[in-house]
Amino acid sequence: MPRLSRRRFLELLGQAGTLSALSLVLPPLARAADKPGAKASARVVIVGGGFGGATCAKYLRRFAPDIHVTLIERDTRFITCPFSNTVLGGLNDMDYISHDYSGLQEHYGIEVVHDSVTEVDAAAKRVSLTNGGKQQYDALVVSPGIDFRWDAIAGYDEKTAESVPHAWKAGTQTETLRRQLEAMPDGGVVIIAPPGNPFRCPPGPYERASMIAYYLKTTKPRSKLLILDAKDKFSKQPLFVQGWEALYPGMIEWIGGSDWGGIGRLDAANRTLYSTFDTPHKADVINLIPPQKAGAIAHAAGLVNADGWCPVDQRTFESTLHKDVYVIGDASVAGQMPKSGFAANSQGKVCAAALAAKFHAIDMPEPSYVNTCYSLVGPEYGISVAGVYRLVDGEIKSVEKSGGVSPIDADRQFRQTEARYAVGWYQSIVSDSFG
Ligand SMILES: Cc1cc2nc3c(=O)[nH]c(=O)nc-3n(C[C@H](O)[C@H](O)[C@H](O)COP(=O)(O)OP(=O)(O)OC[C@H]3O[C@@H](n4cnc5c(N)ncnc54)[C@H](O)[C@@H]3O)c2cc1C
Repeated sequence: MPRLSRRRFLELLGQAGTLSALSLVLPPLARAADKPGAKASARVVIVGGGFGGATCAKYLRRFAPDIHVTLIERDTRFITCPFSNTVLGGLNDMDYISHDYSGLQEHYGIEVVHDSVTEVDAAAKRVSLTNGGKQQYDALVVSPGIDFRWDAIAGYDEKTAESVPHAWKAGTQTETLRRQLEAMPDGGVVIIAPPGNPFRCPPGPYERASMIAYYLKTTKPRSKLLILDAKDKFSKQPLFVQGWEALYPGMIEWIGGSDWGGIGRLDAANRTLYSTFDTPHKADVINLIPPQKAGAIAHAAGLVNADGWCPVDQRTFESTLHKDVYVIGDASVAGQMPKSGFAANSQGKVCAAALAAKFHAIDMPEPSYVNTCYSLVGPEYGISVAGVYRLVDGEIKSVEKSGGVSPIDADRQFRQTEARYAVGWYQSIVSDSFG
């Protein structure tokens, strides 16, 4: 194996954020046990095998194959939220968005344990699992995604969500929502109720509205879709609205929080949402997406702030509350980066670079971070947003003129090309994170 020069290694680490866009293959770092402060036989435990955790595990082994990596994930298959809206629209099935961990085990030598972490003992550097097992670590990475604030909406709790799905974690919830759409009559009403900021995937509810409208237009064209938003504006709004007018004229109505009053309560038995002014909205299908917080284990481990999210050193993603514990992905407070799979992937790489540098006693170079997000308004109609980010005074900030959204005046050919890029984006992020 070629031994890397320190300069080349630093260059590679510096590219870590940008790598998520480029998907470069990094040569492994040579062992560095002889350096003062280095720990070449380090053990890193990663909790959560989603976009953040899986990517961090893979890239840590690529940067530093001498580090032992254990990935603890409760499910044997990861069902991606990205492209789950296409399942609702009838474009893909659940298999298309389901992926296993064999690639990470076989190609990168990652130890994958399918179990749930119930406790983190940061002082003893140990995690406990539901099967009674324990795992010791030198560094812990926590990437648990989100959980829901079940106390936020009267009448809506985990049990009620079985019949009024949020489908904001892909899997059974996605299937329930799809079945309800199939069962509703032509001429029926669907309500999507997105939460206020911050939440997982800012454009997600509006892509969902688009995909459901596509399904309705092709099978139940007399139906209506109402978006009762908690917010007064949303991601890529002019592009979505333009697409809805072009593809689904008269079918989708969006009402902002100030105009309808926001969600007051849910009467699940009568499928009715009430605004804070107590105005009722009845529907055949309600997709209620509740306010969110960092995944439960982050709360149990004492990694969250008063808002329910995890503050971190935004250069390395080390928690500001517990030493040697790192938090990436949706659960973290990551400056101006959105809570997206691509952002989690980018953060996973930066965190892997920080850990490789730490255990090889090398200074962490300045990272850069990226996000790209495609949304399908129709099967042949895509729009996108992209951004590059850098650290400014310790906070991740968007680099001016480095990204942007699709042009508003683009023709149908352009939208069609972006729809194809969206499919390519999905295949490449899945392969980069899990392959
Ligand atoms: C409808 C929808 C569409 C989306 N579309 C896009 C898109 O097009 N592009 C994009 O970039 N992003 C998209 N996203 C956002 C994306 O899904 C998330 O931002 C991303 O999954 C966050 O990655 P993560 O690693 O933080 O969490 P996750 O990917 O959710 O991974 C968390 C993992 O941790 C595991 N876990 C949690 N707690 C424990 C525990 N205690 N023990 C063991 N395992 C545990 C969970 O089982 C899960 O597998 C979308 C989201 C939604 C809801």
